[in-house]
Amino acid sequence: MSDSIEHVKCLIIGSGPAGYTAAIYASRANMHPVLYQGTQPGGQLTTTNDVENYPGYPDGITGPEMMMEFQKQAERFGTDVRHGWITKVDFNGPVHKVWVNDETEIHCDTVIISTGASAKYLGLPSEQKYLKLGGGVSACAVCDGFFYRGQEVVIVGAGDSACEEAHYLSNLCKKVTMLVRRDVFRASKIMEARVRNAENIEILHNTETVEVLGDGQVVTGVKARNKVSGEEIEIPATGFFVAIGHKPNTDIFKDFLKMDETGYIINKPGTSKTEIEGVFVSGDAADHVYRQAVTAAGTGCMAALDAERYLAAKENPVEA
Ligand code: NDP
Repeated sequence: MSDSIEHVKCLIIGSGPAGYTAAIYASRANMHPVLYQGTQPGGQLTTTNDVENYPGYPDGITGPEMMMEFQKQAERFGTDVRHGWITKVDFNGPVHKVWVNDETEIHCDTVIISTGASAKYLGLPSEQKYLKLGGGVSACAVCDGFFYRGQEVVIVGAGDSACEEAHYLSNLCKKVTMLVRRDVFRASKIMEARVRNAENIEILHNTETVEVLGDGQVVTGVKARNKVSGEEIEIPATGFFVAIGHKPNTDIFKDFLKMDETGYIINKPGTSKTEIEGVFVSGDAADHVYRQAVTAAGTGCMAALDAERYLAAKENPVEA
């Protein structure tokens, strides 16, 4: 091995709650973790306004502030937090290799994947504008629904997530309008029935979003078009929820790790272990069900403990 190649005990990829929690545990266990932040330091929470459901913050905290606190805590124990994007990995040999920005090669005893998932959005300029302004566009009803209690909201999508989120919102909001692009749902029958049975959910089939309307600061409504009749309507709403699926950020691992058809990494049940020794996964990269900051943090802790035990067993097989 060339002398110029850096060797690290524990490399953490990703800087959301999973990655930073793994870093806090790994650094306190003297694993000297190096954490690469990726292109969106702080992860999905940096696009969330107020976080009110993370224990320990009774008055709430903004997503970006919370992630800065996570980083500070990881650095306090010695985590080497670096800017950079892991563009390639090679998990074939006994030492796991990763490349930063297609250039720098690093060899690792353990790798903790915490690359998260990205919510899919429609991509309309008006949607992106109010998303960036924090003015009423969200891809997480559980995170943000509370801010719209007693108000009228619109949700797009017709899968299990959309049904679950629409139902969640219907318990908080005065009215939920669900925009379904086809004449049928994709969701399971039981989830579909749940939204159909809710009195304050109106379902508009064959309907697509034309534009998210607003006053320049916050959302005031949604313009939608019936694809069959061509008719356009304006729906008053203060919140626009997008629930059209997530994409796990796992493409670079696909040649090495087992994944489901969407790209979520399959871990050994009840652990953070992948089928490759020394490679662990935490957070949304392996979780399409819960997807919460607190569950991501929990699995980040699991990954660091699993990595620590793996190294201990390797270094001292008798004790293992
Ligand atoms: P899905 O891919 O299942 O559904 C996405 C939905 O969004 C579909 O109805 C799709 O429409 C719609 N959609 C996609 N793109 C657009 C667009 N551009 N405009 C309008 N609508 C669009 O994603 P989910 O996140 O709902 O679910 C992912 C997986 O997680 C599934 O396997 C699901 O079963 C599972 N899950 C399970 C839950 C549970 O069991 N409690 C809860 C949540 C998720 P179309 O149908 O026309 O393609």
